[in-house]
Amino acid sequence: MRSFSCGRCGQLVFFENSLCLRCSAALGFVPSVLDLVVLDGPQASGARACANATLAECNWLVEPGDPGSLCRSCVLTRTRPADSDTASLAAFASAEAAKRRLVFQLLDLGLPIRDDLAFDLLSSQWAPVLTGHDDGVITIDLAESDDARREQRRAELGEPYRTVLGHFRHEIGHYYWPILIEQAGELERWRSLFGDERIDYDSALQRHYEQGPPGDWSQWHVSAYAATHPWEDWAETFAHYLHIRDTLQTAAAFGLIVAGPQATRDESLSAAPRHADPRSFESLIGDWLPLTYALNAVNRSMGRGDLYPFTLAPTVIDKLTCVHERIQSVASRR
Ligand SMILES: [Zn+2]
Ligand SMILES: [Zn+2]
Ligand SMILES: [Zn+2]
Repeated sequence: MRSFSCGRCGQLVFFENSLCLRCSAALGFVPSVLDLVVLDGPQASGARACANATLAECNWLVEPGDPGSLCRSCVLTRTRPADSDTASLAAFASAEAAKRRLVFQLLDLGLPIRDDLAFDLLSSQWAPVLTGHDDGVITIDLAESDDARREQRRAELGEPYRTVLGHFRHEIGHYYWPILIEQAGELERWRSLFGDERIDYDSALQRHYEQGPPGDWSQWHVSAYAATHPWEDWAETFAHYLHIRDTLQTAAAFGLIVAGPQATRDESLSAAPRHADPRSFESLIGDWLPLTYALNAVNRSMGRGDLYPFTLAPTVIDKLTCVHERIQSVASRR
């Protein structure tokens, strides 16, 4: 995430802010310029608050030329809980907050947001809801926005990053697979890295839940769940790539540069030439690894576990490089 400042007083403000805490200026996010602006200032001229400002706690603006009364993020939601379902509406607002982060990053990376993309945000408290992607529609189970429930599922499934934002990033990976791989004529090359997606999906999933992942999964996959099927491998890798890009962007926005002695003594780092090509994944990973070592050390100083409890095997880095190159190729064409 980028950092933002109040257009009136210069105070640091955050992506989620609708108010400057220093000068009380009302703020709104303008998607076309990816910036938080003062509502009565020139940058917001002609823009108005999103109709979901209260319901979804949305701080995005509807710009002149946008159809309807919803912002570019809220308009993507096709189904939400009923007005009478107050418990689910609270979860809906936090899911929409995570979704705005997702949409920000898609716009920032130059990924296409096509008319076929839609979100169903529903709670399994009332009827079964399966988080997943089907032909452009991403369904999220809002009951998982409940931290205690998600933490329980997270521990059961052994997934260190089971978050609502993580779910969005995973499912959007499924959405982009046909666009970035199949329709781009990249299927053969993709299969050589991720495997043949024509193996039966349901039995692969069933095998995973019955037997667990193979013992050496971390040599080949970014997560245990990624070992279930090539499609899940892609979605997990895609989500992980978005985690890396967002965190690197946040670190850069705050001027966080890690060049500590431990980092430079680590031999695995010298394999990645820093800043050789600012757009190569190799240079990104050259910044990423020292940052994660530092953030893990900071977390341990606070008595917590590692912020980044992952190791990236060479095959996993090859898969992340594939995600990076496919995104770069569509972003540069736009
Ligand atoms: Zn201010
Ligand atoms: Zn909105
Ligand atoms: Zn999936």
